[in-house]
Amino acid sequence: MILNDILNKENLTKEELISLLSIENEIQINKLFKKASEVREKYCGNEIHLRGIIEFSNYCEQYCLYCGIRKGSNGIKRFRMSFDEIIETANIINQLGIKTIVLQSGEDSFYTKDFISNLIKELKDKFDVAITLSLGERNFEEYQEWKTAGADRYLLKHETANEILFSFLHNKQKLKDRLDHLIFLKEIGYQIGTGNIVGLPHQTLEDIANDLILCKKYDVDMASFSPFVPSKLTPFYNQPKCNLNLILKTMAVARIYLKNTHIPATTALATLEEDGREKGILAGANVVMPSFTPFPFRDKYLIYDNKRCITEDPIGCLPCLSVRINMLGFEVSKSKGDSFKKENLN
Ligand code: SAH
Repeated sequence: MILNDILNKENLTKEELISLLSIENEIQINKLFKKASEVREKYCGNEIHLRGIIEFSNYCEQYCLYCGIRKGSNGIKRFRMSFDEIIETANIINQLGIKTIVLQSGEDSFYTKDFISNLIKELKDKFDVAITLSLGERNFEEYQEWKTAGADRYLLKHETANEILFSFLHNKQKLKDRLDHLIFLKEIGYQIGTGNIVGLPHQTLEDIANDLILCKKYDVDMASFSPFVPSKLTPFYNQPKCNLNLILKTMAVARIYLKNTHIPATTALATLEEDGREKGILAGANVVMPSFTPFPFRDKYLIYDNKRCITEDPIGCLPCLSVRINMLGFEVSKSKGDSFKKENLN
């Protein structure tokens, strides 16, 4: 089938997803991005949503092969932010007018159920913001309690829909368990985010197509696709980084296929290329997630090498980002940017 016919279809088969991901011709790639932009415009409008991330701990109990803060990773200085430090950082994000706060960390049980609950309550009490948790796999009772405390969203990437690759990457953990967590989170009322890493060793285009199908099947509110960037602190230190076109194509195909789903232009795009995030927006993304992790922790949350903006003052990053967004012809949203899927809101 020719490209235009596929792009104009309401739904796409796995074979069609793979054929879109396989496009190499520059004219065709630009057509794909243009279509993704049209779909973004139709379902998400002209606004880019900012989510302020606080990476509050780089201690981790998992061994994910690709991740620089994995357990046992030597050569990294570990840190944990205190309750007050997290609140203070959230205050800065709130004052800058950003309406979503993402709390992200390694899987760190030092932060107990009660600590996180109290944190959520305090944040909700002080600020009119949405709260996204991105703490890895925790237990179901914790998810429930944090929801009751006021958390709105949970970001738990499936990383790859290939069961064998998933277990290989995650120290024999099972994809099914990860998906059970996602289903539970959705059932108890979280807006959920999942997604993959693109360009992982041993990953095929069919795997990436399956990642997109998984996002659709679970009707996720947000789907995040990050380019693999090696970390010198991991067993994958000498693996090649993701090709920029492959991640941009994945995002564009995701936009066309998933339609009214939030899709971020991840910070890792800016590691591949200085204006990688702008290219991500032009390929269909509608969310940017700047880090507000303060000094002296800011340069220590190194999940991959050459992370951008870790020596810059996070407050200074915001005007830079806003200008970049405006230059592309988009507005920075002033709303919380909840799910576009009204039926998923409660
Ligand atoms: N502990 C939390 C947060 C992990 S960091 C959790 O497990 O959910 C957030 C995301 O960074 C991960 O979900 C993964 O998709 C991404 N990531 C980790 N290492 C990466 C790498 N080397 N390249 C690209 N993305 C990476």
